[in-house]
Amino acid sequence: MAQQSSIAAFLSRRHGHFIDGAWLDAGEQRIEVMNPATGRSFASVAAGSAQDVDHAVRAARRALEHNSWSAALPSQRGRWLWRIGELIENHAEELAELEYLNNGKSRALILKGDIPAAADAFRYYAGWATKIYGQTLAVSRPGALHAYTVKEPLGVVGLIVPWNFPLLMAAWKLAPALAAGCACVLKPAEETPLTALRLAELIQEAGVPPGVVNVVTGYGNVTGAALAAHTLVDKVAFTGSTEVGKLIVQAAAGNLKKLSLELGGKSPTIVFPDAKLTAAKEAAAMGIFFNAGQVCAAGSRLFVHRSLFDEVVGSVVDSARRIRVGPGDDPRSQMGPLISAKQLVRVQSYVNGGCEEGAKVAAGGRRLERDGYFFEPTVLVDTRPDMRVASEEIFGPVLVCGAFEDLDEVARQANDSIYGLSASIWTQDLTTAHALARKLQVGSIRINTGGGLDPNLPFGGYKQSGWGREFGQEGLELYLQTKAVLISA
Ligand code: NDP
Repeated sequence: MAQQSSIAAFLSRRHGHFIDGAWLDAGEQRIEVMNPATGRSFASVAAGSAQDVDHAVRAARRALEHNSWSAALPSQRGRWLWRIGELIENHAEELAELEYLNNGKSRALILKGDIPAAADAFRYYAGWATKIYGQTLAVSRPGALHAYTVKEPLGVVGLIVPWNFPLLMAAWKLAPALAAGCACVLKPAEETPLTALRLAELIQEAGVPPGVVNVVTGYGNVTGAALAAHTLVDKVAFTGSTEVGKLIVQAAAGNLKKLSLELGGKSPTIVFPDAKLTAAKEAAAMGIFFNAGQVCAAGSRLFVHRSLFDEVVGSVVDSARRIRVGPGDDPRSQMGPLISAKQLVRVQSYVNGGCEEGAKVAAGGRRLERDGYFFEPTVLVDTRPDMRVASEEIFGPVLVCGAFEDLDEVARQANDSIYGLSASIWTQDLTTAHALARKLQVGSIRINTGGGLDPNLPFGGYKQSGWGREFGQEGLELYLQTKAVLISA
């Protein structure tokens, strides 16, 4: 009950930007926040200007130079991070409600998946705050010179995140940035700003000094672009489309800020004849229909050995037809809506385009005739690799299927993509599994598991799927820089 009234109170606020530990009520321009399950607005946030971004960046710079942050003991940073994790769990119901209303996905799944994973990201990096180290190095004149390296925070970091896992994406960037000692300006997606705003308050409640975490809401091409171009920002960490990733690269050139980019994918699921078929079939369906296919590592291309093609694809088609599509507050719903009317049009146009080029719809293919942005789980066959539907990231519940004869052929097909984010392999033959894992040009491979991410496991892309690896020590390094010191002995 208390949670319900605090959610209602939060939603009824006139949301501003969270800058320097306080709410800044900026300008008159607002963005309506829509519930994708109804297509109706239920809140609004500020549409941040370049000036708002500038305020936030300057607040972060001041915080970076302020003793309460820069001189805080690493163990203190660790305690703050741990406390943020606890507060996320203490406010799980409230955050899940905001996330469900804003993103549309299942409230139960948010409580089971997104919230604990967000809390765990902070707990995981709480441990790293006290384990940042340089090296002592042997240099060319031993005895005459002594050399060592120190790791220092990169400085002010801009964090630009998308709408598919709003709270989680924010956590995955904030946690390593804070562990490293950076100060942050977070820009959530215009569609899903609410949990980021609430998280900023929880971070303050955890004791993190004002200005260390700032949140500016707004449109990507205004607020995001201003953050990416700001000369007092030392680094931008971005998750989103490859197209916008390239714009950020251009914007970053002004002050050559550092970048880490987690971009698009067109990830293959590959099923060999000796696979454990029940698990493989289920994972092939889950790989594309989980979160309505709005997952950067979604298994959007299915490759099945020719001998099993009809059986495996037939099973995925059955799953697609059985999945109950509906709003996230209905416990019977197995797949929620797409995020926006724009995405609905985009997904439909990919499917229509594929059909015009000769693809056949084996399941789904259309939006649901009801309020909200619901699209049917869709399976396409008779696709060719050169079709847009088979080569571009759709970010919806749309699977394309192809057959293969042998390992080399499927490796060629799987690698025939501008992307290289992840792949999933199903075989019981270790030699096949390792041989294919070596050949695939992707940053993340799962063998006989549809399983997701782990905070200790580096994640990121080859080719146009991005720069850098998030999670684990590599994820921390994205927010650190190395200073080499040489001393005459
Ligand atoms: P974007 O890549 O446009 O959005 C991701 C984030 O970048 C959002 O916060 C967005 O703000 C911001 N942004 C947009 N333009 C700029 C810019 N010029 N400078 C700085 N930041 C910017 O994704 P979309 O929401 O438009 O989705 C389109 C497609 O992108 C999807 O269909 C999917 O293919 C891909 N995508 C991939 C994701 C992934 O995890 N790999 C995640 C999300 C999308 P705003 O929301 O205000 O536009």
